[in-house]
This record gives sequence, structure tokens and C-alpha cells, in this order.
Amino acid sequence: METYFNHINGEWTESSTAERFDNRNPANWNEIIGTFPKSDKKDVDAAVRSARSAYSDWRLTPAPKRGEYLKVVGDIMTERKEELARLMTREMGKVLKETRGDVQEGIDTAYYAATEGRRLFGRNAPSEMPNKVNLTFRMPIGVAGIITPWNFPMAIPTWKIFPALVCGNTVVFKPASDTPATATEFVKILLEAGIPPNVVNIVHGTGSGVGAPIVNHPDINVISFTGSSAVGKSIAASCGTQLKRVSLELGGKNAQIVMDDADLDLALDGVLWGAFGTTGQRCTETSRIILHKKIYDTFIDKLVVRTEALKLGNGLNEDAEVGPFINEGQRETVEKYVEIGKKEGADILCGGERAESGDLADGFFYKPTIFGGVDQNMTIAQEEIFGPVLSVIKIGSLEEAISVLNNSIYGLSSSIYTWDINSAFTAMRDIEAGITYVNGPTIGAECHMPFGGMKETGNGHREGGWEVYEFYSETKTIYVDFSGKLQKAQIDNR
Ligand code: NAP
Ligand code: MG
Repeated sequence: METYFNHINGEWTESSTAERFDNRNPANWNEIIGTFPKSDKKDVDAAVRSARSAYSDWRLTPAPKRGEYLKVVGDIMTERKEELARLMTREMGKVLKETRGDVQEGIDTAYYAATEGRRLFGRNAPSEMPNKVNLTFRMPIGVAGIITPWNFPMAIPTWKIFPALVCGNTVVFKPASDTPATATEFVKILLEAGIPPNVVNIVHGTGSGVGAPIVNHPDINVISFTGSSAVGKSIAASCGTQLKRVSLELGGKNAQIVMDDADLDLALDGVLWGAFGTTGQRCTETSRIILHKKIYDTFIDKLVVRTEALKLGNGLNEDAEVGPFINEGQRETVEKYVEIGKKEGADILCGGERAESGDLADGFFYKPTIFGGVDQNMTIAQEEIFGPVLSVIKIGSLEEAISVLNNSIYGLSSSIYTWDINSAFTAMRDIEAGITYVNGPTIGAECHMPFGGMKETGNGHREGGWEVYEFYSETKTIYVDFSGKLQKAQIDNR
């Protein structure tokens, strides 16, 4: 068991409360991975002072140089990939293949960010006056407050912190209290790569104790949050009254459509990965499958057989396919939804209960669950469950499929399996979601593409790709007049 600290003002420090909390393994709750400082507003204040003190130098460090640090970060992460993946699996339960992927996403994001330091493009435009040029360039915003969830303990912090740094901002980072160890190792890597110590600060603790003070701190200029819609809305309200820039990546209720002409085995592989990977605890998880009536029965028969064959287990076992829930609370939430589904009249086709035999007894395991005969307006088809629970909905046409898919307050990811090019393009045009996959599952984002959702999934910003660099910077417009005289726009030239 290791003792972890906050990193503030270039030092690893205890919190001002001197209280600590444990981080445990959800596959074996008796295993304590480490203890962490339970911080409060005082620690946030200190972290903000630290980040602010570093800002004046960091913003003047040339962006390509800022990017070069991230090249080194990517190299260190590559060297430590296996060790980081193992720590992550112990800390949050998902299987090794997936935690290796989570670290790899961070590495890819690092190398992308490294080169983006040479590409923080502005524009130039002609002036309406002679002997004058107009241009824009990108300015950092200040101190960025970064608040992340537990389901991608490495990838999500890298999506936020790398572009924030490349754009010239300094950082106060609060990771989810369920995954503080991966987050701390990540900060150690940033420091090892040579990023000046005060530039990155990490404060451990709860949402109310540390997250809220970050959101409300007057000297934090920009907030990036990934998490639940409920918390996201309260952060949006608070940032609204402060006129603070905020990016929100929230919930999803993602669906995969399978048309009658689709390759059913391909669609089957897709939904198994989309619905049950990460034990269904992904924002892009497939939680609804919309099946054409002509293939409904055949598809469901195969799906149930394949789902029942999925191997549950401790994610450190190479043959485990589905790990535990993050914690008991998450398992209870899913159980509550399964009860609601039954009451509303959906049929349990498989799963629907805990898995507690043998090695699974000390973890939060649950059998992958499928509900058949689901009506599109049932609670289980509407609310985000965040677990391995798939609702099957029958449709008779493409139009109906898209209308069912769009019948959601969320709009993150989506998928359609079809060989028909007209159906595919209609879906690309008409599905209301930030991401649509054609002949692929709802999961599979690549770090250099914009990531995010429509409707209540967020507030219109995107992570990933080139767009996130716009979020972490502001546009400065410059006019240079080399005419040597006063030229009045709109007046002298008319
Ligand atoms: P959460 O409870 O909203 O927590 C997310 C983060 O916010 C954690 O660090 C949490 O701290 C902190 N927090 C909690 N209350 C806060 C408050 N009042 N003010 C400031 N920060 C606060 O979400 P979660 O349960 O960890 O994650 C699951 C949710 O995230 C799901 O809804 C999922 O869809 C969403 N998600 C979305 C995306 C996306 O990109 N759209 C990606 C992944 C996950 P503690 O950990 O200490 O409570
Ligand atoms: Mg844990």
C-alpha cells in the first residue's frame, strides 16, 4: 500500500485537513492500493496560487517548446505502459487489454499534442484600408481547472491537460476519487519530463470538497469537466454566473442500429464490445440496440449465446473479458434499473443478477444483461444506466430506426450496420449525435478526431483533434497600420 500526496507549489504535500481516504480494488475490495489526502478549499487555494505563479513564464514559453515536453511525456508513458495499465486495472477494474488501450490513448494524445505546438494557427486577412494588415493569433486563457471521472483514468486527463498546456495555460487537476493513483502517476510523468513544477498541480478529494472550490475559484479562468449530467449542469450554472468558459462532456444513451441487410456477425462482435466492454461503464457504451424486425429473432438468439459466454473476472487475468463495477454504489444503481425494467414489462433475456461465485465474491461483479421487448420510451431505454445492460428495440424501417435512436435527451455516440450506401448516408445526415460509426460499434474514438456530443451530452465543445485547442485558447485580433496616418475604418474608405 502506497501513501500518495497532492502536488502543489512544486512539492508533494499532505492536505490541510490531514485526513486521508483509501483507494481500493473493485475486483477485490480487501486490497488497498493506496491512501490519499482528503483535501479542501484551502488546498485548492494553494494550488491556484501555485498555478498562477507559473503562468507568467509558461505563457511566454514558445508553444513548440511546450509541445516538446509532451513528446518526452509520450516516451515515458510508452516505457511505463504495462505498469500503468496494471495499476489502472487494480484501481478501477477494467480488463488489462482495455487499460493498455487507455494508456495508449494517452500516448497517442501526447504525440499529437507535441506537434500541435507548431500548429496553433491564427489567420490573416486583408484589411479594408491600404497599408494595413489584419491577423489573429491564439492566446492562453490562464489557469485551467480540470475535473475528470474514473472510467478513463489516463485517457481523459490527457485529453484535457495536454491541450491546456500546449496552449500555454497552467493546471489545477482534480481526478475522480475512485482513480487517484493513475492520475498521480500521470502527474509524476509530467514532472519527470521537465514541465516546470508549478505548472501542474493535483489536489485529491471529493467533488464537493475539491471539485466545487475549483469551479468557483475566481482565479481559475477555464473549466473542463467530464462526468455525470447532474454534476455537469450544476457546474454550468456556476460557471454561467461567473462568465467562465467551461467544457462539459456528460452522459450518453448510445444506440446501435442493425438493418436487415447487415453483416450480422460483424454487428454481433460490435455490440458485444460496445455494450459490455468496461462493464458498460463508458460514456459511449451501447445501451440500446435497434434491430430490424426481419433479423430480430436470429440476432437475439446469437447475441444471448455470445453474451452468456463472456468471461467475468479480475481484469489482471488475461482471459477475463468483463471486470467489476467501479464500486458498490454503481452496482446498486444498475440493480435498481434492472428492477425498473422488469416492472415496466421488458423481458430479461440473460443476466440480471450479481455474479458472486468463487473468485468473484470480493468484487462488484454483475452478469451482462439483455432486455428484450423494450419500448423506446421505457426508463431503461431513456436513462443512462452506466452498466452492462442492453435494451433491444424492434423497428421496421430505417426512418423508424433513426427516429427511435434520436428519441433521447443525449446525443453522444451512435452506430449503424448496413451495406446499403443510401441508408448509411441517410443515417450520417439524420442521426442527432456527435459521433456516428458506420459498420463499427459506438466505441472506438481516435485521439486526433473531435470527440463529444449533442443535446444534453454537453455544451457544444469538443475534446480531441484540433478543436480542443480552440477551447483552451482565446482569439486575439490584431490590426497593424503601416500607412503612417490615421485611417478610419468604415469612414475614410467610403
Ligand atoms: P461524476 O460523479 O459527475 O464525477 C465526475 C468528477 O466530478 C469526479 O472527479 C467527481 O469527484 C467530481 N465531482 C462530483 N461532484 C462535483 C461537484 N459538485 N463539483 C465539482 N466536481 C464534482 O461522474 P462519474 O460517476 O465519475 O462518471 C460517470 C459519468 O461520466 C457518466 O454519466 C458518464 O456518461 C460520464 N462520462 C462522460 C464522458 C464523455 O466524454 N461524455 C466520458 C466519461 C464519462 P469524485 O470522484 O470525488 O466524486
Ligand atoms: Mg479504486
